[in-house]
Amino acid sequence: EYYLSRIEKLDPQIKAYLTVTREEALAQAQAADEKLARGEELPLLGVPLSVKDNICTKGIRTTCASRILENFVPPYDATVVERLKEAGAVILGKTNLDEFAMGSSTENSAFFPTRNPWDLERVPGGSSGGSAAAVAAELCAGSLGSDTGGSIRQPAAFCGVVGLKPTYGRVSRYGLVAFASSLDQIGPLTRTVSDAALLLQIIGGPDSRDSTCYPEAQPDYLSELEKPLPRLKLGLPKEYFGEGLSDEIRIKLEESFRELEKLGFELREVSLPHTEYAVAAYYIIAPAEASSNLARYDGVKYGLRLEGRDLLDMYKKTRSQGFGAEVKRRIMIGTYALSAGYYDAYYRKASQVRTLIARDFEEAFKEVDLILTPVTPTSAFRLGEKTQDPLQMYLSDIFTIPVNLAGLVGLSLPVGLTSENLPVGLQIIGPHFSEPLVLNLAHRLE
Ligand code: GLN
Repeated sequence: EYYLSRIEKLDPQIKAYLTVTREEALAQAQAADEKLARGEELPLLGVPLSVKDNICTKGIRTTCASRILENFVPPYDATVVERLKEAGAVILGKTNLDEFAMGSSTENSAFFPTRNPWDLERVPGGSSGGSAAAVAAELCAGSLGSDTGGSIRQPAAFCGVVGLKPTYGRVSRYGLVAFASSLDQIGPLTRTVSDAALLLQIIGGPDSRDSTCYPEAQPDYLSELEKPLPRLKLGLPKEYFGEGLSDEIRIKLEESFRELEKLGFELREVSLPHTEYAVAAYYIIAPAEASSNLARYDGVKYGLRLEGRDLLDMYKKTRSQGFGAEVKRRIMIGTYALSAGYYDAYYRKASQVRTLIARDFEEAFKEVDLILTPVTPTSAFRLGEKTQDPLQMYLSDIFTIPVNLAGLVGLSLPVGLTSENLPVGLQIIGPHFSEPLVLNLAHRLE
């Protein structure tokens, strides 16, 4: 009731939620009270959470913030949702996003933009902007987002909350509406690092319904969090601190670096030489996969259907009106890049660059335990500031995209405010399955 009343009071301005499941939430809370009275112990008993609206919820509309799925009600829960419910959580509703998670500001939602709780004239980031804003404004105790190129970490940084993109394969993607299947990963957005550890514990681990999900059991993240850390070597990649990084962000990050040195960690410069090609490679690979994944929205099987003269006309009308401009742009880029004669020049080339970027990290992790970088080049920008210029929008993910291309762990930790009172995030990057170490280091800085 506390969270529902905050949503009622504050969400008309922030617009973090696409759907508030008031009745279901109250029923789940009631059931949690009864379980508590019976002495049942569950890790998330009665904890009110929200879920990004590209993660399937049985019986609850899952729109991907797209007209094409405006009235789609999934007949099943995503694995992560099933696990939240089994752990006793209360689901307050579904949060706004850029259509099909394509964007960095939540302005690509077909329904309405979400606003940054720190300054309502600014974007919350994206694509998990609804989740980040909801956590920051205390419209839920924590949320699940998805991250293909930065969509958990960038909004977490803009809204001053913790956001974790787990290792590719750590969390099941079953029931996550696919954007770019080789990059997508679900993860938590929370107010503290230990909350992120707790949520990852619940949602992560093997799942036979996702063949890319890692089959080994997970470590116990909460107990790992308390273990003393050795004198870790922390790498600062020089390519991430050059031109384009705002001074205010640089200053805040340097304060954190000094604090880490005081805590006894060793900081040293490293190099990730192929960084400058990451955005270009991503904007071939992600649209290529998206063009294939989004072929299923054809007006035949489910979702929107607009009547046409014949089958082809029906496809055309449905897809022309069902998808927004950015989604169409991606489908066209992806289809072009995969077409005969262009495949070698674009998709194959991008895949090779992806390998080089992954190798950069492998080399760096021979020298250092973890890598520290900014999450974003600037703090939250104004609504409308970048909507006319897709390339500018794409560049806001320059520091987060390499992590997805290499399948690594990336955590965004709030480390202070700019002079305009806007949050700044520090990114901690770790090797595959280094979540315990990344969380532990983040916890030292909280
Ligand atoms: N902003 C990036 C894009 O538009 C990343 C989005 C994401 O991580 N889902 O593709």
